[in-house]
Amino acid sequence: MVLAAARRYDAERQIATGLRTGWIALATFLGLIALASAQVLALQHAIRAADELSREDERQLVQRFLHRTMEADVAAQLGIINWDEAIGHVDHASRSSTDMAWLDREFGAYAYGTYNADQAFLIHADGTLLRAWQDGHAVDGGAIATLRQPAAALIAQSRTPGQTLGTPAGQIRLSDGSSWAVDHTGMPLPRWAGGMVRVGERVEIMTVGSVVPDRAAGLFNHAPTYFVSLRPLDQAATRVMRRDLLLPDIALTLSPNLAAQDNTIALDSVDGTRLGWLRWTAKSPGPTIMHRAAPMLWGWIALFIGVLIGGSVVLRRSWRISRELLASEAQARHNALHDAMSGLPNRVHYMQRLRHDLAACIAGELRGDVFVAYIDLDGFKVVNDTLGHHVGDELVRQVALRLRRTLPASDFIARFGGDEFVVLRRGEGGRAMADLLGGQIMALLREAFVISGNTIDVTCSCGISWGPAQSEDPGELLRRADIALYRAKQRGRSRYRRFTRDMDASVKLRLELEMELRRAIVRNELSMAYQPIVTTGTGEIVGVEALMRWQHPERGAIRPDLFVPIAEQGGLMITLGTWMLREVFAECGNWPACDISVNLSPIQIMASNFLATMAGIVAETRIDPTRVVLEITEGVMLDRSDHVLGVLRDLGRMGFRIALDDFGNGYSSLSYLRMFQFERIKIDRSFVSNIESDVDANAILCTIAALGHSLRMKVVAEGVETETQRQLVQAAGCEMVQGFLFWKPMSANEVRPLLNRRGQNRQLRLA
Ligand code: C2E
Ligand code: CA
Ligand code: CA
Repeated sequence: MVLAAARRYDAERQIATGLRTGWIALATFLGLIALASAQVLALQHAIRAADELSREDERQLVQRFLHRTMEADVAAQLGIINWDEAIGHVDHASRSSTDMAWLDREFGAYAYGTYNADQAFLIHADGTLLRAWQDGHAVDGGAIATLRQPAAALIAQSRTPGQTLGTPAGQIRLSDGSSWAVDHTGMPLPRWAGGMVRVGERVEIMTVGSVVPDRAAGLFNHAPTYFVSLRPLDQAATRVMRRDLLLPDIALTLSPNLAAQDNTIALDSVDGTRLGWLRWTAKSPGPTIMHRAAPMLWGWIALFIGVLIGGSVVLRRSWRISRELLASEAQARHNALHDAMSGLPNRVHYMQRLRHDLAACIAGELRGDVFVAYIDLDGFKVVNDTLGHHVGDELVRQVALRLRRTLPASDFIARFGGDEFVVLRRGEGGRAMADLLGGQIMALLREAFVISGNTIDVTCSCGISWGPAQSEDPGELLRRADIALYRAKQRGRSRYRRFTRDMDASVKLRLELEMELRRAIVRNELSMAYQPIVTTGTGEIVGVEALMRWQHPERGAIRPDLFVPIAEQGGLMITLGTWMLREVFAECGNWPACDISVNLSPIQIMASNFLATMAGIVAETRIDPTRVVLEITEGVMLDRSDHVLGVLRDLGRMGFRIALDDFGNGYSSLSYLRMFQFERIKIDRSFVSNIESDVDANAILCTIAALGHSLRMKVVAEGVETETQRQLVQAAGCEMVQGFLFWKPMSANEVRPLLNRRGQNRQLRLA
């Protein structure tokens, strides 16, 4: 479940990253498309601009060509208008027919023949017509009446600056007061102007040129006469344009209906009316540019597609790689924080969370406390040893699942390894909440598990602490929960305990005692006491139980009830137990015949070399094993019973007898009695102390004794303190007793004489 949540989280992250990458890819894609479109648009725009520019160029070209044509027309007439001789004829023509005839010949006929001037006339600056010609022949002034007005306009235009043929170097003043440009030699420069006019249906080029002397500057002293000539803007004229301007279809048109590729210039007459248009097919460079640019454009598009494909491939790959990296990183992070078997968070993760939540509580961001519940399965080892590790593993998994499913989702559940689980809960209520949590955890395992066909009835023990109320330190909180757990185990398992201050004190004491116990072994502070075991009826000593004693230099006598468990947990029990066995066997070896009972800790029996150790001590002390009764408690049978049974059988083979100690205490199970042929069972002191007052206890005592006998075991009653108790245990059938009514534990020196005087003692007791 937790694993699934983590995977979901990873998946969500991947999707988010994927989406982000997708958006980037889409944006890049759109960006590229926009770029490409912009390029195409720019190209289109450039083509249009180039076309427009080219059209404008063409228009200017045609315009200038027309201008130059007119200028050239006038320049070509220089032979007649720039001529001393002409001045004289012009000046005298109005009075002399020979002069007029000269003008007809040299101007009218010449201009028609040479320049195709179908209309021509000479006109004075004051507007009086001197002579007019049509197709080279003199005509009446009426024939050119309509032309006089535009001619006058052109003459006026010719007087504007820049309308001279040749480079002006100065001015001379004429008789009418106006000035005239002259060249460096002082010769007056001819002036000219040109424009279009309509003559009938035709459009004609009209030019005016001033008649000036070419040698005798003195001839020129008044405003000149102008020669006006017209020639049609006809096929011949446009042919020249076609040739010179490389415009193969340029032509005059009178309608403005134009096609898209057409270019035109408007032709206006001198007086400003529209005459028509010159039309030609524009040399549009667009297609050429397009044609030239096409390979580049295609190349660019190919590159664009290539980049797009390549980019998407690279993008996809890097996306996949980053996704894989992310996934493996998420997996690694998950692995670092989770327990592989159960999928629950591990200790590291738990401590992170505990630190975080505790800090939040201390900072006041969270209300209440953080509760730490340390859980340990009872008898997990038995499951592992009897049913195999795969069943044990499955049990751990199922417990994890049940914890996860049953406890509120807000509880943080971790596995610390083995059969240890730790719950973290945030809440208010201190002890009440601890009780609630403890109760919930206990209820969890009430139902048995079914694994591989085995019904497994496990219980758990639990210790609970909470902070900041009990401690602000996460490590300390965990330690306290562990102490409470230990207490719960001590109290007989299958229960929870809240941590209390006195537990801590006892824990501290335990730690100190553990250290001191190590020293005690070396310093010989330990000794053995012996408590006689007597027959119930006669009180005759039949044996002794060896009991360990610790005389602490400062603390005084420390009870074995206290220090033996410390030795067991502190890893000292083997040393202590071996010392004890050696001590007892050495001491009792030469005592008068009696049973010698010694207590064995489960730790000793479980040790792999226990049988060898035993054999070694037997050989060393030369004790007769048949005199020795080894007392074990039911606790030994709880864990790894098959191994223990094997060891017990081997001990039996060596000659030792085995007693089941403390029977009737805690979680006794009669089934243990059937597992092994014990020589005797010792009914626990707590049981015996009740029999006087509790009728049921007495009945049970009788039953146990009967059962023991039926299984061929002797029954010993422990802790008999009163005569009534003695009578009751005797009545129940216990053949031996051990208790203060007879003897207290005493030193070897004290007990030895008793054994020697055994007969006497018996008599004493019976008296
Ligand atoms: P246990 O094996 O049940 O030992 C009997 C305990 O009952 C002894 O306590 C003994 O002094 C006490 N006792 C006997 N008769 C009476 C009586 O009439 N009234 C009362 N109130 N007590 C009586 P002790 O010596 O304090 O030992 C306590 C426990 O410590 C033992 O219980 C045994 O479990 C453990 N122990 C002692 N010596 C050793 C040892 O060498 N090895 C191991 N593993 N455990 C030992
Ligand atoms: Ca005992
Ligand atoms: Ca006992």
